[in-house]
Amino acid sequence: GKNKAVESKICILGGPGVGKSALVVRFLTRRFIWEYDPTLECTYKHQTTIDDEPVAMEILDTAGQEWTLHREGHVRWADGFVLVYAVNDRNSFEEVVNIKQSLDEIKKTNVQCVLVGNKIDLLHEVRVPYTEGERLANDWACAFFETSASDGGDEIYELFHELHREIRRRKMLE
Ligand code: GDP
Ligand code: MG
Repeated sequence: GKNKAVESKICILGGPGVGKSALVVRFLTRRFIWEYDPTLECTYKHQTTIDDEPVAMEILDTAGQEWTLHREGHVRWADGFVLVYAVNDRNSFEEVVNIKQSLDEIKKTNVQCVLVGNKIDLLHEVRVPYTEGERLANDWACAFFETSASDGGDEIYELFHELHREIRRRKMLE
């Protein structure tokens, strides 16, 4: 019926320590937690409203070893992906490129994603300028956000909402 919640299964991916858990926790609780178990993999259920429509969101916060073990299953499970790098860590930028490639291979299609450059509060340590993130997102035809999980800000909510809209759009076409 009209009021049935739209489902969005979202998987958070990126290199170690880029702030995946901090972003998810900020989105869900509006708080910042400094230390978060880097090996813990966790799925959160989140009922919300986006564009006046009920949404049943599930968010899978991946972590190193677990991700390696369950990669294929996670990728098939997810409707869309948040690909996170840290703006002060060039390796993490290279890593999202590799991750995106393996996602497309596993899904056999161009997957729904948003690209996120986190830790933008570390202004003096920026190694990946905005324009590079923007260019990569253009190549992927996806949205791009710079965020700070520690400072908060609307971008963190917008990125999840925007990914949901993309997921919804594709589901309506199926
Ligand atoms: P994950 O391994 O990707 O899940 O990363 P975490 O969320 O565990 O964060 C790793 C470290 O980066 C922690 O010490 C966080 O406090 C820190 N961190 C996360 N997000 C930010 C941010 O936006 N700015 C700053 N300065 N530190 C952050
Ligand atoms: Mg984590």
